[in-house]
Amino acid sequence: MEDFERIKKFIETVLDKPTFDKWISPLSFIASVNKIVLIGSTDIKKLSWIKQNLLNKINDNTKKEFGLTLKLVSFNDDDDDFLLDDTDVTKTRTKSSFDSNLQEKYTFESFVQLDQNRMAYSFAHSVSEFPAKSYNPLYIYSDVGLGKTHLMVAIGNRILENNKTLRVLYLTTNDLMKEYVEYTRHNKVSAFTEKYTSVDILLIDDIQYITRWGGTREQFYYIFNKLIQMEKQIVICSDKHPDNIPDLEHRIKSRFEWGGLVDILHYDLEGRIAILKKKIDERRKFFNNDFQIPEEVIYFLASSIKDNIRKLEGALNRLIGFANLKFSDTKNNIITLPFAKEALKPFISLSKKPSTQKGIQEFIAQKYNLKFSDLISKSNKHDIAFPRQIAMYICKKVTKIPLHEIGNNFGGKHHSTVLHSIKKIEKEIENDYEFAKEINSLVELFK
Ligand code: ADP
Ligand code: MG
Repeated sequence: MEDFERIKKFIETVLDKPTFDKWISPLSFIASVNKIVLIGSTDIKKLSWIKQNLLNKINDNTKKEFGLTLKLVSFNDDDDDFLLDDTDVTKTRTKSSFDSNLQEKYTFESFVQLDQNRMAYSFAHSVSEFPAKSYNPLYIYSDVGLGKTHLMVAIGNRILENNKTLRVLYLTTNDLMKEYVEYTRHNKVSAFTEKYTSVDILLIDDIQYITRWGGTREQFYYIFNKLIQMEKQIVICSDKHPDNIPDLEHRIKSRFEWGGLVDILHYDLEGRIAILKKKIDERRKFFNNDFQIPEEVIYFLASSIKDNIRKLEGALNRLIGFANLKFSDTKNNIITLPFAKEALKPFISLSKKPSTQKGIQEFIAQKYNLKFSDLISKSNKHDIAFPRQIAMYICKKVTKIPLHEIGNNFGGKHHSTVLHSIKKIEKEIENDYEFAKEINSLVELFK
Protein backbone atom coordinates (compact mmCIF):
# COMPACT_ATOMS: atom_id res chain seq x y z
CA MET A 1 0.00 0.00 0.00
CA GLU A 2 2.71 2.40 1.00
CA ASP A 3 4.33 1.96 -2.37
CA PHE A 4 1.24 3.12 -4.14
CA GLU A 5 0.70 6.12 -1.88
CA ARG A 6 4.29 7.13 -2.44
CA ILE A 7 3.99 6.60 -6.15
CA LYS A 8 0.69 8.45 -6.33
CA LYS A 9 2.22 11.49 -4.67
CA PHE A 10 5.06 11.29 -7.10
CA ILE A 11 2.82 10.89 -10.16
CA GLU A 12 0.95 13.95 -9.03
CA THR A 13 4.13 15.89 -9.65
CA VAL A 14 4.62 14.33 -13.09
CA LEU A 15 1.12 14.93 -14.49
CA ASP A 16 -1.04 18.01 -14.54
CA LYS A 17 -3.69 18.15 -11.86
CA PRO A 18 -6.88 17.56 -13.91
CA THR A 19 -5.33 14.53 -15.60
CA PHE A 20 -4.20 13.15 -12.28
CA ASP A 21 -7.55 13.70 -10.60
CA LYS A 22 -9.52 12.22 -13.43
CA TRP A 23 -7.43 9.16 -14.27
CA ILE A 24 -5.03 8.19 -11.51
CA SER A 25 -6.74 9.22 -8.35
CA PRO A 26 -9.66 6.76 -8.63
CA LEU A 27 -7.47 3.69 -9.18
CA SER A 28 -7.16 1.13 -6.39
CA PHE A 29 -4.09 -0.52 -5.10
CA ILE A 30 -4.12 -4.33 -5.22
CA ALA A 31 -0.71 -5.57 -4.28
CA SER A 32 2.93 -4.98 -4.74
CA VAL A 33 5.19 -7.88 -5.59
CA ASN A 34 8.74 -8.01 -6.86
CA LYS A 35 8.96 -4.36 -7.85
CA ILE A 36 5.65 -4.51 -9.67
CA VAL A 37 2.70 -2.58 -8.29
CA LEU A 38 -0.68 -3.94 -9.33
CA ILE A 39 -3.32 -1.30 -9.71
CA GLY A 40 -6.91 -2.12 -10.49
CA SER A 41 -10.19 -0.73 -11.65
CA THR A 42 -13.50 -2.12 -12.88
CA ASP A 43 -13.59 0.42 -15.64
CA ILE A 44 -12.01 -1.22 -18.64
CA LYS A 45 -12.30 1.87 -20.85
CA LYS A 46 -10.47 3.91 -18.31
CA LEU A 47 -7.74 1.29 -18.00
CA SER A 48 -7.30 1.17 -21.76
CA TRP A 49 -7.05 4.91 -21.99
CA ILE A 50 -4.44 5.05 -19.24
CA LYS A 51 -2.52 2.22 -20.81
CA GLN A 52 -2.42 3.97 -24.15
CA ASN A 53 -1.82 7.49 -23.01
CA LEU A 54 -0.22 7.64 -19.61
CA LEU A 55 1.29 4.37 -18.52
CA ASN A 56 4.57 4.57 -20.39
CA LYS A 57 5.24 8.06 -19.21
CA ILE A 58 4.42 7.13 -15.62
CA ASN A 59 6.51 3.99 -15.67
CA ASP A 60 9.51 5.74 -17.18
CA ASN A 61 9.44 8.04 -14.21
CA THR A 62 8.60 5.56 -11.44
CA LYS A 63 11.28 3.18 -12.66
CA LYS A 64 13.86 5.91 -12.42
CA GLU A 65 12.63 7.21 -9.11
CA PHE A 66 11.72 4.01 -7.23
CA GLY A 67 12.68 1.10 -9.46
CA LEU A 68 8.98 0.17 -9.57
CA THR A 69 6.66 -0.58 -12.46
CA LEU A 70 2.91 -0.15 -12.43
CA LYS A 71 0.75 -2.85 -13.94
CA LEU A 72 -2.94 -2.34 -14.62
CA VAL A 73 -5.40 -5.07 -13.77
CA SER A 74 -9.10 -5.31 -14.44
CA PHE A 75 -11.44 -6.65 -11.79
CA ASN A 76 -13.69 -7.99 -14.50
CA ASP A 77 -13.20 -11.14 -16.45
CA ASP A 78 -12.94 -11.34 -20.23
CA ASP A 79 -10.74 -8.25 -20.40
CA ASP A 80 -7.89 -10.13 -21.94
CA ASP A 81 -5.52 -7.18 -21.93
CA PHE A 82 -5.87 -6.72 -18.24
CA LEU A 83 -6.36 -10.19 -16.85
CA LEU A 84 -4.47 -10.83 -13.69
CA ASP A 85 -1.56 -12.60 -15.21
CA ASP A 86 1.16 -13.35 -12.74
CA THR A 87 3.78 -14.56 -15.18
CA ASP A 88 5.60 -11.28 -15.13
CA VAL A 89 5.33 -10.90 -11.40
CA THR A 90 6.56 -14.29 -10.29
CA LYS A 91 10.12 -15.36 -10.85
CA THR A 92 11.14 -15.40 -14.44
CA ARG A 93 11.83 -18.72 -16.06
CA THR A 94 15.41 -19.83 -16.25
CA LYS A 95 16.40 -18.73 -19.68
CA SER A 96 16.60 -21.37 -22.33
CA SER A 97 17.57 -20.72 -25.90
CA PHE A 98 14.10 -21.62 -27.12
CA ASP A 99 11.05 -19.60 -26.18
CA SER A 100 8.30 -22.08 -25.45
CA ASN A 101 5.58 -19.55 -24.72
CA LEU A 102 4.40 -21.43 -21.64
CA GLN A 103 2.70 -19.78 -18.69
CA GLU A 104 4.43 -21.09 -15.61
CA LYS A 105 1.38 -21.09 -13.40
CA TYR A 106 -0.36 -23.78 -15.43
CA THR A 107 1.03 -27.00 -13.97
CA PHE A 108 -0.32 -30.41 -13.04
CA GLU A 109 0.11 -29.43 -9.39
CA SER A 110 -2.16 -26.41 -9.77
CA PHE A 111 -4.81 -28.42 -11.65
CA VAL A 112 -7.60 -29.92 -9.55
CA GLN A 113 -8.45 -33.47 -10.60
CA LEU A 114 -12.16 -34.20 -10.68
CA ASP A 115 -14.43 -36.83 -12.21
CA GLN A 116 -15.21 -34.49 -15.09
CA ASN A 117 -11.57 -34.13 -16.11
CA ARG A 118 -10.06 -37.34 -14.76
CA MET A 119 -9.55 -38.93 -18.15
CA ALA A 120 -8.18 -35.77 -19.73
CA TYR A 121 -5.80 -35.37 -16.82
CA SER A 122 -4.62 -38.93 -17.06
CA PHE A 123 -4.04 -38.76 -20.84
CA ALA A 124 -2.24 -35.44 -20.48
CA HIS A 125 -0.10 -36.74 -17.69
CA SER A 126 0.82 -39.79 -19.66
CA VAL A 127 1.80 -37.68 -22.67
CA SER A 128 3.99 -35.51 -20.47
CA GLU A 129 5.86 -38.53 -19.14
CA PHE A 130 6.10 -40.38 -22.45
CA PRO A 131 5.99 -37.80 -25.24
CA ALA A 132 5.11 -39.32 -28.61
CA LYS A 133 4.93 -42.74 -27.01
CA SER A 134 1.44 -42.79 -25.55
CA TYR A 135 -1.23 -40.71 -27.30
CA ASN A 136 -0.24 -38.89 -30.43
CA PRO A 137 -1.82 -36.55 -31.25
CA LEU A 138 -3.60 -35.88 -27.99
CA TYR A 139 -6.81 -33.95 -28.64
CA ILE A 140 -8.57 -32.34 -25.68
CA TYR A 141 -11.96 -30.68 -26.15
CA SER A 142 -14.57 -29.01 -23.97
CA ASP A 143 -16.68 -25.91 -23.66
CA VAL A 144 -14.72 -22.78 -22.79
CA GLY A 145 -13.10 -22.11 -19.45
CA LEU A 146 -12.87 -25.69 -18.22
CA GLY A 147 -9.11 -26.12 -18.16
CA LYS A 148 -7.95 -27.29 -21.60
CA THR A 149 -5.26 -24.67 -21.99
CA HIS A 150 -4.20 -25.22 -18.42
CA LEU A 151 -3.69 -28.96 -19.03
CA MET A 152 -1.96 -28.42 -22.34
CA VAL A 153 0.51 -25.94 -20.89
CA ALA A 154 1.02 -28.25 -17.90
CA ILE A 155 2.15 -30.93 -20.36
CA GLY A 156 4.70 -28.52 -21.81
CA ASN A 157 5.97 -27.42 -18.42
CA ARG A 158 6.36 -31.00 -17.21
CA ILE A 159 8.17 -32.11 -20.35
CA LEU A 160 10.63 -29.26 -19.94
CA GLU A 161 11.08 -30.09 -16.29
CA ASN A 162 12.03 -33.62 -17.28
CA ASN A 163 14.20 -32.62 -20.18
CA LYS A 164 15.29 -29.03 -20.74
CA THR A 165 16.77 -29.72 -24.13
CA LEU A 166 13.48 -30.53 -25.84
CA ARG A 167 11.99 -27.86 -28.05
CA VAL A 168 8.48 -27.35 -26.74
CA LEU A 169 6.28 -24.79 -28.44
CA TYR A 170 2.86 -23.55 -27.40
CA LEU A 171 0.74 -21.31 -29.58
CA THR A 172 -2.81 -20.70 -30.63
CA THR A 173 -4.13 -21.51 -34.06
CA ASN A 174 -4.63 -17.80 -34.70
CA ASP A 175 -1.01 -17.03 -33.78
CA LEU A 176 0.12 -19.74 -36.14
CA MET A 177 -2.01 -18.31 -38.89
CA LYS A 178 -0.76 -14.77 -38.34
CA GLU A 179 2.78 -15.97 -38.41
CA TYR A 180 2.18 -17.87 -41.59
CA VAL A 181 0.81 -14.77 -43.26
CA GLU A 182 3.86 -12.84 -42.10
CA TYR A 183 6.24 -15.45 -43.53
CA THR A 184 4.42 -15.62 -46.85
CA ARG A 185 4.50 -11.87 -47.13
CA HIS A 186 8.27 -12.10 -47.01
CA ASN A 187 8.32 -15.09 -49.32
CA LYS A 188 9.66 -17.34 -46.64
CA VAL A 189 7.22 -20.22 -46.52
CA SER A 190 10.01 -22.76 -46.34
CA ALA A 191 11.45 -21.02 -43.26
CA PHE A 192 8.03 -21.25 -41.67
CA THR A 193 7.76 -24.95 -42.40
CA GLU A 194 11.28 -25.46 -41.17
CA LYS A 195 10.59 -23.71 -37.91
CA TYR A 196 7.51 -25.76 -37.10
CA THR A 197 8.82 -29.09 -38.24
CA SER A 198 11.89 -28.67 -36.07
CA VAL A 199 10.06 -28.67 -32.75
CA ASP A 200 9.84 -31.75 -30.54
CA ILE A 201 6.52 -30.96 -28.91
CA LEU A 202 3.89 -28.83 -30.62
CA LEU A 203 1.00 -27.56 -28.50
CA ILE A 204 -1.72 -25.98 -30.64
CA ASP A 205 -4.62 -24.28 -28.91
CA ASP A 206 -8.11 -23.49 -30.21
CA ILE A 207 -7.87 -25.53 -33.39
CA GLN A 208 -11.57 -24.84 -34.13
CA TYR A 209 -10.40 -21.60 -35.78
CA ILE A 210 -8.52 -23.58 -38.38
CA THR A 211 -11.54 -23.31 -40.64
CA ARG A 212 -10.93 -19.57 -40.94
CA TRP A 213 -7.67 -20.30 -42.62
CA GLY A 214 -8.80 -21.00 -46.12
CA GLY A 215 -5.89 -22.16 -48.27
CA THR A 216 -3.24 -21.87 -45.59
CA ARG A 217 -4.72 -24.88 -43.84
CA GLU A 218 -2.73 -27.09 -46.19
CA GLN A 219 0.42 -25.85 -44.56
CA PHE A 220 -0.79 -26.95 -41.17
CA TYR A 221 -1.74 -30.38 -42.49
CA TYR A 222 1.73 -30.71 -43.89
CA ILE A 223 3.42 -29.75 -40.63
CA PHE A 224 1.07 -31.98 -38.70
CA ASN A 225 1.78 -35.04 -40.82
CA LYS A 226 5.46 -34.43 -40.88
CA LEU A 227 5.71 -34.14 -37.10
CA ILE A 228 3.65 -37.27 -36.56
CA GLN A 229 5.84 -39.10 -39.05
CA MET A 230 8.96 -38.01 -37.20
CA GLU A 231 7.41 -39.17 -33.94
CA LYS A 232 7.16 -35.76 -32.41
CA GLN A 233 4.37 -35.13 -29.92
CA ILE A 234 1.41 -32.98 -30.89
CA VAL A 235 -1.27 -31.80 -28.47
CA ILE A 236 -4.38 -30.05 -29.73
CA CYS A 237 -7.14 -28.25 -27.86
CA SER A 238 -10.50 -27.25 -29.18
CA ASP A 239 -13.90 -26.19 -28.00
CA LYS A 240 -15.35 -28.78 -30.37
CA HIS A 241 -15.17 -32.48 -31.12
CA PRO A 242 -13.39 -32.94 -34.48
CA ASP A 243 -16.69 -34.03 -36.02
CA ASN A 244 -18.16 -30.67 -35.12
CA ILE A 245 -15.50 -28.60 -36.84
CA PRO A 246 -16.95 -27.89 -40.25
CA ASP A 247 -14.76 -28.17 -43.33
CA LEU A 248 -12.06 -30.04 -41.52
CA GLU A 249 -10.41 -32.36 -43.98
CA HIS A 250 -11.55 -35.92 -43.42
CA ARG A 251 -8.01 -37.26 -43.39
CA ILE A 252 -6.97 -34.90 -40.62
CA LYS A 253 -10.16 -35.54 -38.68
CA SER A 254 -9.51 -39.22 -38.51
CA ARG A 255 -5.92 -38.53 -37.51
CA PHE A 256 -7.15 -36.42 -34.63
CA GLU A 257 -9.32 -39.31 -33.56
CA TRP A 258 -6.53 -41.86 -33.79
CA GLY A 259 -4.35 -40.74 -30.94
CA GLY A 260 -6.11 -39.76 -27.77
CA LEU A 261 -9.44 -37.97 -27.90
CA VAL A 262 -10.66 -36.77 -24.50
CA ASP A 263 -13.13 -34.24 -23.22
CA ILE A 264 -13.64 -32.24 -20.05
CA LEU A 265 -17.21 -31.97 -18.83
CA HIS A 266 -18.88 -29.19 -16.87
CA TYR A 267 -17.97 -29.37 -13.21
CA ASP A 268 -20.61 -29.88 -10.59
CA LEU A 269 -20.97 -27.62 -7.58
CA GLU A 270 -18.60 -29.67 -5.47
CA GLY A 271 -15.97 -29.54 -8.19
CA ARG A 272 -16.28 -25.79 -8.63
CA ILE A 273 -15.87 -25.34 -4.90
CA ALA A 274 -12.72 -27.47 -4.90
CA ILE A 275 -11.21 -25.43 -7.73
CA LEU A 276 -12.19 -22.16 -6.12
CA LYS A 277 -10.51 -23.15 -2.87
CA LYS A 278 -7.33 -23.92 -4.71
CA LYS A 279 -7.44 -20.54 -6.45
CA ILE A 280 -8.03 -18.77 -3.15
CA ASP A 281 -4.99 -20.45 -1.64
CA GLU A 282 -2.89 -19.46 -4.63
CA ARG A 283 -3.96 -15.84 -4.35
CA ARG A 284 -3.41 -15.73 -0.65
CA LYS A 285 0.16 -16.86 -1.16
CA PHE A 286 0.67 -14.60 -4.12
CA PHE A 287 -0.64 -11.45 -2.45
CA ASN A 288 0.89 -12.42 0.86
CA ASN A 289 -2.45 -11.47 2.29
CA ASP A 290 -4.55 -12.62 5.22
CA PHE A 291 -8.02 -12.16 3.81
CA GLN A 292 -10.49 -14.84 4.73
CA ILE A 293 -13.30 -16.10 2.56
CA PRO A 294 -15.83 -18.09 4.58
CA GLU A 295 -17.48 -21.25 3.23
CA GLU A 296 -20.79 -19.50 2.61
CA VAL A 297 -19.11 -16.99 0.30
CA ILE A 298 -17.33 -19.76 -1.57
CA TYR A 299 -20.66 -21.53 -1.92
CA PHE A 300 -22.32 -18.34 -3.13
CA LEU A 301 -19.66 -17.84 -5.81
CA ALA A 302 -19.57 -21.44 -6.98
CA SER A 303 -23.34 -21.72 -7.17
CA SER A 304 -23.75 -18.41 -8.99
CA ILE A 305 -21.21 -19.00 -11.75
CA LYS A 306 -21.59 -22.44 -13.20
CA ASP A 307 -20.43 -22.58 -16.73
CA ASN A 308 -16.88 -21.35 -16.78
CA ILE A 309 -13.98 -21.46 -14.35
CA ARG A 310 -12.35 -18.43 -15.92
CA LYS A 311 -15.42 -16.36 -15.02
CA LEU A 312 -15.35 -17.80 -11.53
CA GLU A 313 -11.75 -16.67 -11.19
CA GLY A 314 -12.69 -13.26 -12.57
CA ALA A 315 -15.31 -12.94 -9.84
CA LEU A 316 -12.76 -13.97 -7.23
CA ASN A 317 -10.29 -11.37 -8.49
CA ARG A 318 -12.93 -8.72 -8.33
CA LEU A 319 -13.89 -9.72 -4.82
CA ILE A 320 -10.30 -9.62 -3.61
CA GLY A 321 -9.75 -6.31 -5.36
CA PHE A 322 -12.77 -4.81 -3.65
CA ALA A 323 -11.78 -6.24 -0.31
CA ASN A 324 -8.32 -4.72 -0.66
CA LEU A 325 -9.93 -1.40 -1.36
CA LYS A 326 -12.19 -1.59 1.62
CA PHE A 327 -9.83 -3.05 4.17
CA SER A 328 -6.70 -1.36 2.98
CA ASP A 329 -5.11 -0.99 6.35
CA THR A 330 -6.36 -3.78 8.57
CA LYS A 331 -5.15 -7.35 8.67
CA ASN A 332 -7.14 -10.58 8.98
CA ASN A 333 -10.00 -9.32 6.94
CA ILE A 334 -13.10 -11.42 6.55
CA ILE A 335 -15.01 -11.10 3.32
CA THR A 336 -18.61 -11.45 4.45
CA LEU A 337 -21.50 -12.69 2.35
CA PRO A 338 -23.27 -9.30 2.16
CA PHE A 339 -19.99 -7.71 1.12
CA ALA A 340 -19.48 -10.36 -1.58
CA LYS A 341 -23.03 -9.95 -2.87
CA GLU A 342 -22.60 -6.22 -3.14
CA ALA A 343 -19.18 -6.41 -4.77
CA LEU A 344 -20.29 -8.96 -7.34
CA LYS A 345 -23.74 -7.64 -8.10
CA PRO A 346 -23.23 -6.58 -11.72
CA PHE A 347 -20.93 -9.48 -12.34
CA ILE A 348 -23.20 -12.24 -11.22
CA SER A 349 -26.41 -11.06 -12.75
CA LEU A 350 -24.53 -10.90 -16.03
CA SER A 351 -22.98 -14.34 -15.90
CA LYS A 352 -25.95 -16.24 -14.60
CA LYS A 353 -27.29 -18.19 -17.51
CA PRO A 354 -31.06 -18.08 -17.39
CA SER A 355 -32.36 -21.51 -18.18
CA THR A 356 -34.81 -20.43 -20.79
CA GLN A 357 -35.58 -22.58 -23.76
CA LYS A 358 -33.95 -19.98 -25.99
CA GLY A 359 -30.78 -20.04 -23.88
CA ILE A 360 -30.60 -23.83 -24.11
CA GLN A 361 -31.25 -23.82 -27.84
CA GLU A 362 -28.59 -21.21 -28.47
CA PHE A 363 -26.06 -23.09 -26.40
CA ILE A 364 -26.71 -26.41 -28.14
CA ALA A 365 -26.67 -24.81 -31.58
CA GLN A 366 -23.28 -23.26 -30.83
CA LYS A 367 -21.94 -26.48 -29.37
CA TYR A 368 -22.88 -28.52 -32.42
CA ASN A 369 -21.94 -25.84 -34.88
CA LEU A 370 -25.45 -25.25 -36.12
CA LYS A 371 -27.34 -22.09 -36.77
CA PHE A 372 -30.28 -21.40 -34.52
CA SER A 373 -32.45 -21.65 -37.61
CA ASP A 374 -31.16 -25.19 -38.29
CA LEU A 375 -32.20 -26.28 -34.84
CA ILE A 376 -35.78 -25.16 -35.36
CA SER A 377 -35.93 -26.22 -38.99
CA LYS A 378 -37.71 -29.22 -40.45
CA SER A 379 -34.52 -30.97 -41.46
CA ASN A 380 -34.19 -34.55 -40.32
CA LYS A 381 -30.53 -34.90 -41.18
CA HIS A 382 -28.82 -36.68 -38.30
CA ASP A 383 -26.33 -33.82 -37.74
CA ILE A 384 -29.24 -31.51 -37.09
CA ALA A 385 -31.90 -33.80 -35.68
CA PHE A 386 -29.68 -35.30 -33.00
CA PRO A 387 -28.62 -31.99 -31.38
CA ARG A 388 -32.26 -30.92 -31.64
CA GLN A 389 -33.31 -34.01 -29.70
CA ILE A 390 -30.67 -33.24 -27.08
CA ALA A 391 -31.91 -29.67 -26.78
CA MET A 392 -35.50 -30.91 -26.36
CA TYR A 393 -34.41 -33.37 -23.71
CA ILE A 394 -32.57 -30.68 -21.74
CA CYS A 395 -35.53 -28.30 -21.99
CA LYS A 396 -37.76 -30.98 -20.56
CA LYS A 397 -35.31 -31.76 -17.77
CA VAL A 398 -34.58 -28.25 -16.56
CA THR A 399 -37.59 -26.09 -17.38
CA LYS A 400 -41.25 -26.44 -16.57
CA ILE A 401 -42.31 -25.69 -20.13
CA PRO A 402 -45.03 -28.10 -21.33
CA LEU A 403 -44.25 -30.41 -24.24
CA HIS A 404 -46.49 -28.72 -26.78
CA GLU A 405 -44.84 -25.38 -26.09
CA ILE A 406 -41.35 -26.89 -26.34
CA GLY A 407 -42.47 -28.23 -29.71
CA ASN A 408 -43.80 -24.84 -30.76
CA ASN A 409 -40.48 -23.22 -29.97
CA PHE A 410 -38.72 -25.72 -32.20
CA GLY A 411 -40.46 -24.41 -35.27
CA GLY A 412 -43.88 -25.86 -34.61
CA LYS A 413 -43.13 -29.52 -33.87
CA HIS A 414 -45.95 -31.67 -32.56
CA HIS A 415 -45.76 -32.64 -28.87
CA SER A 416 -45.52 -36.30 -29.84
CA THR A 417 -42.34 -35.48 -31.75
CA VAL A 418 -40.93 -33.88 -28.63
CA LEU A 419 -41.87 -36.91 -26.58
CA HIS A 420 -40.29 -39.22 -29.11
CA SER A 421 -37.07 -37.17 -29.02
CA ILE A 422 -36.90 -37.28 -25.25
CA LYS A 423 -37.43 -41.07 -25.26
CA LYS A 424 -34.70 -41.43 -27.85
CA ILE A 425 -32.19 -39.52 -25.75
CA GLU A 426 -33.20 -41.44 -22.62
CA LYS A 427 -32.54 -44.66 -24.43
CA GLU A 428 -29.18 -43.44 -25.64
CA ILE A 429 -28.30 -42.44 -22.08
CA GLU A 430 -29.10 -45.94 -20.86
CA ASN A 431 -26.92 -47.55 -23.49
CA ASP A 432 -23.95 -45.25 -23.64
CA TYR A 433 -22.16 -44.32 -20.48
CA GLU A 434 -19.97 -41.62 -22.06
CA PHE A 435 -22.96 -39.99 -23.69
CA ALA A 436 -24.85 -40.12 -20.38
CA LYS A 437 -22.03 -38.30 -18.65
CA GLU A 438 -22.00 -35.59 -21.28
CA ILE A 439 -25.75 -35.03 -21.20
CA ASN A 440 -25.85 -35.03 -17.41
CA SER A 441 -23.14 -32.42 -17.38
CA LEU A 442 -25.26 -30.19 -19.63
CA VAL A 443 -28.33 -30.73 -17.48
CA GLU A 444 -26.24 -29.79 -14.45
CA LEU A 445 -25.11 -26.63 -16.23
CA PHE A 446 -28.64 -25.42 -16.93
CA LYS A 447 -30.28 -26.59 -13.71
P1 ADP B 1 -10.11 -23.46 -21.63
O1 ADP B 1 -8.79 -23.54 -22.33
O2 ADP B 1 -10.80 -24.79 -21.52
O3 ADP B 1 -11.02 -22.40 -22.15
P2 ADP B 1 -8.48 -22.62 -19.40
O4 ADP B 1 -7.48 -23.71 -19.36
O5 ADP B 1 -8.05 -21.31 -19.95
O6 ADP B 1 -9.82 -23.08 -20.11
O7 ADP B 1 -9.04 -22.42 -17.92
C1 ADP B 1 -9.64 -21.24 -17.48
C2 ADP B 1 -9.20 -20.98 -16.05
O8 ADP B 1 -9.78 -21.96 -15.19
C3 ADP B 1 -7.70 -21.10 -15.88
O9 ADP B 1 -7.24 -20.08 -15.07
C4 ADP B 1 -7.50 -22.45 -15.23
O10 ADP B 1 -6.40 -22.44 -14.35
C5 ADP B 1 -8.79 -22.64 -14.47
N1 ADP B 1 -9.18 -24.06 -14.34
C6 ADP B 1 -10.04 -24.75 -15.11
N2 ADP B 1 -10.15 -26.02 -14.69
C7 ADP B 1 -9.33 -26.14 -13.62
C8 ADP B 1 -8.99 -27.21 -12.73
N3 ADP B 1 -9.54 -28.43 -12.87
N4 ADP B 1 -8.10 -26.96 -11.75
C9 ADP B 1 -7.55 -25.74 -11.60
N5 ADP B 1 -7.82 -24.70 -12.40
C10 ADP B 1 -8.71 -24.87 -13.40
MG1 MG C 1 -8.16 -22.29 -23.86
